Amino acid sequence: RAKELGGRRVEVFAAHMHADVVRRLELAADLQRALLEKQFALEFQPIVDLATSRVTAVEALVRWWRGSTFVPPEQFLGPAEDTGLIVPLSEWILKEACREVAAWRASSWDIGLSVNLSLRQITSPSFVESVSEALSDSGLPPSALTLEVVEEMLVEDAEEIISRLSTLRSLGIRLAIDDFGTGYASLAPLRQLPVDMVKIDPSFVAGLGQDETLTLLTRTIVRLGHDLGLIVVAEGIERPEQLELLREMGCTRGQGYLVARPMAARGVDSLMRTSLQSTA
Ligand code: C2E
Ligand code: MG
Ligand code: MG
Ligand code: MG
Repeated sequence: RAKELGGRRVEVFAAHMHADVVRRLELAADLQRALLEKQFALEFQPIVDLATSRVTAVEALVRWWRGSTFVPPEQFLGPAEDTGLIVPLSEWILKEACREVAAWRASSWDIGLSVNLSLRQITSPSFVESVSEALSDSGLPPSALTLEVVEEMLVEDAEEIISRLSTLRSLGIRLAIDDFGTGYASLAPLRQLPVDMVKIDPSFVAGLGQDETLTLLTRTIVRLGHDLGLIVVAEGIERPEQLELLREMGCTRGQGYLVARPMAARGVDSLMRTSLQSTA
């Protein structure tokens, strides 16, 4: 009886595993096809200067519609990384984003571009070259591009990564630490890699004005960032109270649904027109 139950449990487990493997293989195949059929798109989320409310940059965010279903980046970036598809995908993202932003700058709108990097992208042999190529093809000046990395990428055996990022920085490209404060060795990367910017993780910003510890931690990160001469960006601003506190703390820049949602290039076009009119 026990044996029978145990056997059945193994069978159920195996069937479950099987379904999971099939799902992952299907996803990998779909990703490959999506890349060939150009199913990926970019959205851009404005980042504003908190003192003046002016848009200083946009962050490129990849979007995938799998048929009529939207798949969030957090669901397909892992599999894309595992299969290596992240490398061609990231090269496309970088080229496309540089091209769009260079066009906005050509209309005399002074904005920068932030692009997220993935680990496998940075370690791929063509990384440094593909970044330079995206810049030269689009005409975007290196100083207008910020590359975002997360702390985890800079912790273990990161010498090669740090050396590649340092090379890019010596070309004038800016570096940012994304999701700052969530890693276990928050300050270590700042010692190993010269960066220009830290982006405070939304988990801190979420507690602003509601949670004393998170408010204090946010204030501390802003001060630390400024003491280190860095631009400090707060991410995930959703409530007016958060915006007010960040302004009062002297945080440099802000990003979040309250300020602006990620939008297609056409949305940025109209934002640019209003923006250029208001400064004309
Ligand atoms: P991230 O780089 O930290 O990007 C910010 C994420 O927060 C974006 O989610 C954005 O839509 C979302 N967000 C912005 N403001 C708010 C807000 O006020 N409230 C809330 N709840 N969310 C807000 P998204 O686009 O789903 O991207 C998630 C993550 O996936 C990104 O986090 C980044 O790590 C990764 N990712 C996105 N696009 C790319 C890409 O092109 N390349 C790579 N390598 N990673 C990407
Ligand atoms: Mg980011
Ligand atoms: Mg982030
Ligand atoms: Mg993130």
